[in-house]
Amino acid sequence: MILLNPKQHSRLYRDERSRQIMLKTIEFFERKGKSKLKEDDRDRVWYADFLDFQREEKLFATLLTPAGYGEPDCRWDTWRNCEFNEILAFYGLHYWYTWQVSILGLGPIWMSANESLKQRAAQLLREGAVFAFGLSERAHGADIYATEMALTPQPDGTYRANGEKYYIGNGNTAPMVSTFGKVAGSGDYVFFVADYRHKNYDLVKNIVNTQSYVADFALRDYPVSEADILSKGQEAWDTALNTVNVGKYNLGWASIGICTHALYEAVGHAANRRLYGMAVTDFPHVRQMFTDAYARLVAMKLFALRASDYMRSASPQDRRYLLYNPVVKMKVTTQGEEVINLLWDVIAAKGFEKDMYFEMAARDIRALPKLEGTVHVNIALIVKFMANYFFNPAAYPEVPLRDEPVNDDFLFRQGPAKGLGRIQFHDYNPILDGCGLPNVQLFREQIAAFKDLLARATPSEAQTRDVDFLLAMGEIFTLVVYGQLILEAAELYAVSDDLVDQIFDVLVRDVSKFALQLYSKPSSTGPQMDYCLEMIRKPVVEGERYSRVWQEVHALKDAYEMNP
Ligand SMILES: Cc1cc2nc3c(=O)[nH]c(=O)nc-3n(C[C@H](O)[C@H](O)[C@H](O)COP(=O)(O)OP(=O)(O)OC[C@H]3O[C@@H](n4cnc5c(N)ncnc54)[C@H](O)[C@@H]3O)c2cc1C
Repeated sequence: MILLNPKQHSRLYRDERSRQIMLKTIEFFERKGKSKLKEDDRDRVWYADFLDFQREEKLFATLLTPAGYGEPDCRWDTWRNCEFNEILAFYGLHYWYTWQVSILGLGPIWMSANESLKQRAAQLLREGAVFAFGLSERAHGADIYATEMALTPQPDGTYRANGEKYYIGNGNTAPMVSTFGKVAGSGDYVFFVADYRHKNYDLVKNIVNTQSYVADFALRDYPVSEADILSKGQEAWDTALNTVNVGKYNLGWASIGICTHALYEAVGHAANRRLYGMAVTDFPHVRQMFTDAYARLVAMKLFALRASDYMRSASPQDRRYLLYNPVVKMKVTTQGEEVINLLWDVIAAKGFEKDMYFEMAARDIRALPKLEGTVHVNIALIVKFMANYFFNPAAYPEVPLRDEPVNDDFLFRQGPAKGLGRIQFHDYNPILDGCGLPNVQLFREQIAAFKDLLARATPSEAQTRDVDFLLAMGEIFTLVVYGQLILEAAELYAVSDDLVDQIFDVLVRDVSKFALQLYSKPSSTGPQMDYCLEMIRKPVVEGERYSRVWQEVHALKDAYEMNP
């Protein structure tokens, strides 16, 4: 089975240390048990136990130190980091969050040319430290051009930093907070490190009401020398974007972990609950909702797995990951919300109970689409790739499944962040044409209608400036990319035809839904509306296939339960 089951964790690893990391992490949480997990969540207990565990086992050190800076088994290996992401979120988003913001904090460090700061980070990782990424400011949201944190040059060649950062995870405990600012006078961007222990680092407060510490901190005449600077000017700007390119991908895995645990709980509850003399899972609408939730969750995981292959294969000549990563960020995380909505409508009151993981899942799943760039910001990014994707494909060598134990060097030398509109993609037609499944073929026809809309009823200048219109187009485009990589992954992970067709049953309905939205936009023209109607299709109904997939879902009822 493609979904994580911590109690039957049989995934094959290329090296023993990776296997041990995953098994020990599962063991840590299972030993902690569900009631303590929930109690700590309820009482908003700082997760010192997890941080101690990771320090003792040197988990972050092994997983987040690039090759050459640590022990021989240390490497930045996206494939195994995916797995770790998924396990942490399976047990609780806050455990995942401290890891995630450490990844973000380390981005500007590993991308820097400042060797001594890199050595310091490696040493701190060895000692069990966590890291922080100080990009956001209270007043500016996504508008990082407006950053106010300022480094003022001093006569002796050093600087004084002044300004406030807001929403900074681990800002209460990270000895290296990668902080983004501008040099006063020149306005040049700069990344430098700040230490939470310094007296001029003012930890104002925790902004959130959870187990995590998401800091509001201020630097007040904080001394910075050249030795503390990670990057300047264009390089600092690129570093900010390139770090987010890597970090935003992990949010999809958090959604996958959360949904997987919630699915086990929900199916277990519904299958064992009897109403009117029958199991809740005997209701046809309940079966449909569970089958949809399962198909959506497997699709999320297939897409994220395949996007990892492209990220690991990226190079200056192949930057396709710059489309796939925002799709993971925006699509996989919003699909996570849909999965939880479906499950919650079935388990209803049970989803509120304080002893359920589900209660946390229902709350936490909402965070993922909103952090590290909202859904809108990511769709606005995604549509930049649309013209080349449809009308200017390129040939690339085949990208295989990339699970080998190697360091992902390119992620820390991604180069200039610009030039997105020039990136080309491999043609999506061959994989769709080569798959005879009825709903895949239907999906292919829907895409053809969308492409015709773009070519023959091309959005006007005014429409392309209207973000509302653009977002509706972006949703359909995203589904095309989503379907393409899901099919690629389905082959690599030998997913059954039944399940793939069920996934495309869902995708066909989703294209129809977004086509109707585009149709209804105030500025859509007659010809555009006609193409939208062509996109609205009913999936091919196949009762036996559906029941086989339902049996697969139903079998999850006894597959996993967390230790009490
Ligand atoms: C719990 C938590 C933890 C966080 N951790 C960190 C951290 O560790 N480090 C860090 O630096 N930040 C962190 N953040 C900040 C967070 O990533 C950003 O603030 C968030 O992604 C943007 O949300 P916002 O409310 O600031 O939205 P705003 O930027 O204020 O956006 C407002 C609205 O405008 C839309 N919008 C904005 N720009 C565009 C655009 N270009 N195109 C289309 N629509 C647009 C948005 O979609 C949104 O609907 C954290 C935030 C939270 C809540």
